[in-house]
Amino acid sequence: MKIFNTLSGRKEEFIPLEPGKVKMYVCGPTVYNFIHIGNARPMIVFDTVRRYLEYKGYEVNFVSNFTDVDDKIIKKAMEEGVDSSVISERYIKECKEDMAAMNVRPATVHPKATEEIGGMLDLIKTLVDKGHAYKAEDGTVYFRTSSFKEYGKLSHKNLDDLQSGFRELKVTGEDGKEDPADFVLWKPKKEGEPYWESPWCQGRPGWHIECSAMSRKYLGEQIDIHGGGEDLIFPHHENEIAQSEAASGKEFAKYWMHNGFLNIDNKKMSKSLGNFFTVREIREKFDLQVLRFFMLSAHYRSPLNFSAQLMEASKNGLERIYNGLDKLRELEEKAGQEKLLDSEKAWYQESRELVAKFEAAMEDDFNTADGVAAVFELVKLGNSTADGNSSREYVAALRESLEALCGVLGIETERKIEVLDQEVEAMIAARGQARKEKNFALADEIRQKLLDMGIVLEDTREGVKWKRA
Ligand code: AMP
Ligand code: ZN
Repeated sequence: MKIFNTLSGRKEEFIPLEPGKVKMYVCGPTVYNFIHIGNARPMIVFDTVRRYLEYKGYEVNFVSNFTDVDDKIIKKAMEEGVDSSVISERYIKECKEDMAAMNVRPATVHPKATEEIGGMLDLIKTLVDKGHAYKAEDGTVYFRTSSFKEYGKLSHKNLDDLQSGFRELKVTGEDGKEDPADFVLWKPKKEGEPYWESPWCQGRPGWHIECSAMSRKYLGEQIDIHGGGEDLIFPHHENEIAQSEAASGKEFAKYWMHNGFLNIDNKKMSKSLGNFFTVREIREKFDLQVLRFFMLSAHYRSPLNFSAQLMEASKNGLERIYNGLDKLRELEEKAGQEKLLDSEKAWYQESRELVAKFEAAMEDDFNTADGVAAVFELVKLGNSTADGNSSREYVAALRESLEALCGVLGIETERKIEVLDQEVEAMIAARGQARKEKNFALADEIRQKLLDMGIVLEDTREGVKWKRA
């Protein structure tokens, strides 16, 4: 299996630290709002990587954090006049709901920064003791980049260039730095902000230290795969390497994987540019299986442009797979012949080759685009060769292969009747109209229909409210 490693800039053979096991860490979201579909890309990508590794028989220990202490969370908490944990807990809950709807499995552990301060303090102490970090007059602790000779190795930047680049870009409040390329490990509290005690000052951690500390705690000093979006290569991942390797003296992560951006009109989708759709907004119009399928139709390192047309195309593609599976399931049930027929042997062989083709695509740096193409070929083979005369063995083999490959991609194979918000609203409006016209039989009928779809109505003084049962 080959993985493109950002560290070396090329595809490398994947050899885990320990045979049969994979330790994997992926940087998770900062929880101050609903996640947007750009944030969803690494979730879907690395969930698929994990699924494929498990399909190959590896035991995967997968850790992904929630950044729950951050300027943006604190700002929102102040605006709402609540504690910042109220904001972070709210959006962790919403994020988990979105993940489930995208079929992104929960990680083995989802640590939160605020619950891991002890580990961060330990790591910073080690760095200070070893001379890799120092305290400035105001209590801020900085990482001394010049003490880590390999600084810049991930982003392929040169420390001298970085230093001169940073010199131009003075950050206010960071005047205590020895060197402009140094970065914050711990900073003093500001009025009204959450803070913790530390040997240096009452304060809170910088962003980079949390991933080094959590990765060390839950996976050990060395891990196999570290992932995230490509915007994290510098400075976040570069700094993680400096912190972890300066402290342990060992290579932190063997393979660094980065997904490309999800774009809109060829610009990165981001909160700051305001050109984003939340996963929640997309969910109003599409089953999120469609979003997942859309993401996987491109290779994870390629930029991917989001558009309604491409989503429609993914929806149709998914429908083709579901129709193919429905047909195979029906034929399997009705098959008159048990054992594979001689006339089916060549087709059966072809189906094995398509499974191998899917695997070869995934082994080549998780090329899901080619993997999806192999799935479509399998559907086509089923559509053109399986019929009422087929043996149960043949159609079952096709169905099982399709289900297994969809499972690797995290695509549900049971056709779910996903009830969309707008459908429910339309039916409620129709029921309201029926009641106005005193057609209570029709109104009750609609209510029952909604109930069959798992939607419960409640008539309140403010109007009709509904929820999913
Ligand atoms: P953030 O909450 O901004 O720290 O982002 C969480 C994760 O989403 C990180 O791995 C980012 O690299 C990733 N990410 C953010 N925006 C995009 C985007 N437009 N396309 C792909 N990945 C993104
Ligand atoms: Zn991180």
